[in-house]
Amino acid sequence: MSVLPEFEYKRPGTANELFDLLLSHETGAQILAGGTDLIPRVKLGLKKPDIVIDIKDIEGLNYVKDDGEKVRIGALTTIYNIKNNIMIKEKHPALHEATALTANENIRQRGTVGGNILQDTRCLYYNKPETWRLSFKPCLKNRGDICNAVKGGKKCFSIYRGDLAPALISLSASICLVGKDGEKEIPLENIFTGDGMSPFSLKKTDFIKEVIIPSQKMIGGYEKLRMRKSVDYPVVNVALSMDTKGRGRLVSGSVGPRPIVYEFLSSDELRKIPERAYNEAFPVNNMILSPLYRKRMVRVLSERLIRRVFLDNF
Ligand SMILES: Cc1cc2nc3c(=O)[nH]c(=O)nc-3n(C[C@H](O)[C@H](O)[C@H](O)COP(=O)(O)OP(=O)(O)OC[C@H]3O[C@@H](n4cnc5c(N)ncnc54)[C@H](O)[C@@H]3O)c2cc1C
Repeated sequence: MSVLPEFEYKRPGTANELFDLLLSHETGAQILAGGTDLIPRVKLGLKKPDIVIDIKDIEGLNYVKDDGEKVRIGALTTIYNIKNNIMIKEKHPALHEATALTANENIRQRGTVGGNILQDTRCLYYNKPETWRLSFKPCLKNRGDICNAVKGGKKCFSIYRGDLAPALISLSASICLVGKDGEKEIPLENIFTGDGMSPFSLKKTDFIKEVIIPSQKMIGGYEKLRMRKSVDYPVVNVALSMDTKGRGRLVSGSVGPRPIVYEFLSSDELRKIPERAYNEAFPVNNMILSPLYRKRMVRVLSERLIRRVFLDNF
């Protein structure tokens, strides 16, 4: 079993204290929320923080509020609490279904929405113990200069495998970031760089305060292919949210370092998306299932989801 290395551990009680800690440790600091993504990575030697800043004691980051215009979800809200929120279930089915399919009940009770969004990308050749990784040359994400998944590859093809971001993006969610320059709200899809080595555009001193979704009731759903039904990351995932006029977004995930967004203004446009998503998906050989199978499953899951949502609602 991997053992945790030594690091400094701080537990600030306020956002200001957190901010002071982040500013005084611009490199080597890691925020810990539920810890279910961070701690396994530290144990595997993939992250080597000097200081871990546990934000669980910070008041006022755990809520789901609806003011009629926006739904605000605090960054420390657990996946379990979002899943069991009746308003989310009724108004934002894509998000509700995604929470129900994320990991298992234990991890949902511990894992937070902020941590779920900012979980790092994964690769068959990277998320392994150090001894295993030593049998290969160090890859780009592991301070090396090659890609073990794509021979001759000059960039990192690790995959973003979060469940909640595609669902939230389908709902046109934005996030409120707090950083050196104060607070700013940005569309969630804009934090993804598309680069597996460094998948988010956040600065070291930024933290997520809340996730914001338009309050409007949407029709939709979520489909996820995974190896084990009991607990597993998505192999392919697709989220769909639309209004009663048939306008909305379909988002596909887990085929590359960022979710891919398809906007549509009518059901005719929506029906063309599965073929487009299939043509534009270029998975590589860095997961347990073959790239071609995963590419095909983008179309299969998109078609399945569209059929289900239409049968249920129109
Ligand atoms: C066995 C297992 C199965 C899993 N299955 C799934 C799955 O099916 N689907 C899925 O999506 N995930 C899965 N996960 C991944 C992950 O544990 C969860 O998604 C969880 O939601 C992460 O949330 P957390 O609060 O524990 O994050 P943490 O581990 O605390 O943090 C994750 C990252 O986000 C950063 N961070 C956290 N909160 C903030 C914030 N507010 N501001 C800035 N940075 C922040 C941390 O610094 C860290 O880099 C699984 C994990 C395990 C161990």
